[in-house]
Amino acid sequence: MESSLSSSASLKRRASCTCYCPSPGKPVLVVSWIENNPGRRFYGCPNYWVGRKCKYFQWVDDEICPHGKVLIPEQRHTILRLQVEVSTCKKREKCLAMSLILSLLMCGICLCVILVLVV
Ligand SMILES: [Zn+2]
Repeated sequence: MESSLSSSASLKRRASCTCYCPSPGKPVLVVSWIENNPGRRFYGCPNYWVGRKCKYFQWVDDEICPHGKVLIPEQRHTILRLQVEVSTCKKREKCLAMSLILSLLMCGICLCVILVLVV
């Protein structure tokens, strides 16, 4: 995915090689989901998730237009809702498949018992 986006003019800006931490690391590419910058990517401190973090921050993408600031969160919300629905449907499908297998097994046993009793 990253390679498909590499032709974007906004990606031509590069993050500096290291952040400002005492033991600096290579900045990581993160996606912002705050209201003013939904889906906008930036480079941040690699220690962001481990508690120790510096103030290193650099936008990668250009600012999002007002229409995008409304549309992107709506689409993200729709995607997340659909992912939950798909997950629920997959669980229901497994449950129905198990019920079908058990029903067929019960029918087979019943037929065997009837055949034994008749013969
Ligand atoms: Zn840092």
